[in-house]
Amino acid sequence: ERQKHIRNFSIVAHIDHGKSTLADRILELTDTVAKRDMQAQVLDDMPLERERGITIKLNAVELTYHAKDGQDYIFHLIDTPGHVDFSYEVSRSLAACEGALLVVDAAQGVEAQTLANVDLAIDDDLEIVPVINKIDLPSAQPDVVKEEITEMIGLDGDDAVLASAKSGIGIEEILERIVSDVPAPAGDVEAPLKALIFDSVYDSYRGVVLDVRLVDGSVKVGDEIELMSNGKKFEVTEVGVMSPKAVKRDLLMAGDVGYITASIKTIQDTRVGDTVTSADNPTAEALAGYRKITPMVYAGVFPTDNAKFNDLRDALEKLQLNDAALEFEPETSKALGFGFRAGFLGLLHMDVIQERLERDFDLDLIMTAPSVDYHVEKTDGTTITVENPAEMPDSSEIKDILEPYVKASIMVPNDYVGPVMELCQRKRGEFDTMNYLDKYRVDVIYDMPLSEIIYDFFDDLKSNTKGYASLDYEITGYRASDLVKMDILLNGDPVDALATIIHKDFAQSRGRAITAKLKETIPRQNFEVPIQAAIGNKIIARTTIRAYRKDVTARIHTGDPDRRAKLLDKQKRGKKRMKAVGSVEVPQEAFMSLLEVN
Ligand code: GDP
Ligand code: MG
Repeated sequence: ERQKHIRNFSIVAHIDHGKSTLADRILELTDTVAKRDMQAQVLDDMPLERERGITIKLNAVELTYHAKDGQDYIFHLIDTPGHVDFSYEVSRSLAACEGALLVVDAAQGVEAQTLANVDLAIDDDLEIVPVINKIDLPSAQPDVVKEEITEMIGLDGDDAVLASAKSGIGIEEILERIVSDVPAPAGDVEAPLKALIFDSVYDSYRGVVLDVRLVDGSVKVGDEIELMSNGKKFEVTEVGVMSPKAVKRDLLMAGDVGYITASIKTIQDTRVGDTVTSADNPTAEALAGYRKITPMVYAGVFPTDNAKFNDLRDALEKLQLNDAALEFEPETSKALGFGFRAGFLGLLHMDVIQERLERDFDLDLIMTAPSVDYHVEKTDGTTITVENPAEMPDSSEIKDILEPYVKASIMVPNDYVGPVMELCQRKRGEFDTMNYLDKYRVDVIYDMPLSEIIYDFFDDLKSNTKGYASLDYEITGYRASDLVKMDILLNGDPVDALATIIHKDFAQSRGRAITAKLKETIPRQNFEVPIQAAIGNKIIARTTIRAYRKDVTARIHTGDPDRRAKLLDKQKRGKKRMKAVGSVEVPQEAFMSLLEVN
């Protein structure tokens, strides 16, 4: 009976179309969060999310809606991220739902991630309610967007709710549509427990907290649960729901979305996508779980202080618990010491992980420039995978280097097709095809090397199209390219953490740009430091950092101790993210300079 009144839904959209703002309005209208506690984007509770105004982790909340039919409905709202790096998180939240609100910006229209996310929702057989948001904007074109929803997505555009999450227009209509259009969960409360773990976090007091969607059965404190992937058993210590803070419950049952704690102390035991069942009365079959996703880019992660290696490993393990996309394995660098090679979904993902490691775990890190993975066919007939440019075999052993290629789909207004094609061409793209989406927009498709896309491609795209382009891409395979390894030598020694793989045609210009950039970022030492770029034994670019003469504080009058202390303090803080490479002090930025000169 209770189950008939449950509605589980997600909000999917292209980034910035207003998911989080709409979630705020829904929480407000259902009195889930008192007005005085309301701050913008309540669900984005990670400090990083607030600062950057983006949603990274999915979040689930329970709320009660008193509908026009006089009945109370229990809604579980699962917010999802919109950035291309995090589409994996989207598929996780969708698996816990029966329906989705599809939010489309009335001024921007359907964009690349709108389509990508809608495809995920359709794959999961979700009922989709289209919402055209930001109708308050003077530039809103709801009729054009309706047409796009019909033409490009295949849903009925005229069926869309017209809304403004900002001004609170259409919110009640959206809630009514959730009641009428989204089906109640179909699970069997009497059947053995079967629940999907869609997220988990580590809490130092309670152990691992599992966020679950119950498909069948029920669970309460004292029950013995079993994790189906490894057969481990635990006694439940607490169950509850997020509303949006944790609220304890006596029982969770089929259809519910909530959390379970069971004194699970080892992170390795729990896996997102796993099925929880009852130890005494297990379900016959596990849920489908999630498709394993593979990282797109790899980078070295090293503690500035070598003694923090174990802390870094603990921190990475904790982050990995609810971020299955994060991969890592130990790596040793001659320049940087002991650390890890980590795999990420993209640069934003990498950035977010770095910030969380430094902020939440108080670590000082050196990250090396990201690289894609290469397949190297050797002259001895074997093929190896190289995720770290420093490990590229000697050129005499290499027959071919293959790099990952993507099919990139770029949606732009007609007027910008020229600049987009020019940019793609410059990034070694090969034109595939072009589809006219409607009267105004085109989907331009290129085959491109992934390595050209992961760096500043998206920024270039935005600036070449006044921000109108949106991008989506998928890996299509590996292709042989004319690639070489470029070494960077500091003081005559190659620095493994600065090695890169680049296309031969760009080697000379990149070599010059990188050495120049390093000269800017590496502070003067008390001796001269030559910087060279080399391919094999051939030096292709060189420059020199001259020795410095004065102590930074030497010119400050001793009569100003405050100033002197501040300066020394600043110097010390600057030092934190420095690493001695041989006899040269190299700051974090230097390792990233490879990125900036693309
Ligand atoms: P998300 O990335 O989809 O979660 O988008 P956000 O909810 O963070 O919103 C992105 C931006 O659009 C923010 O600056 C919001 O204030 C703004 N925004 C959201 N909804 C509306 C709306 O209905 N009207 C207007 N004018 N702005 C909106
Ligand atoms: Mg958001």
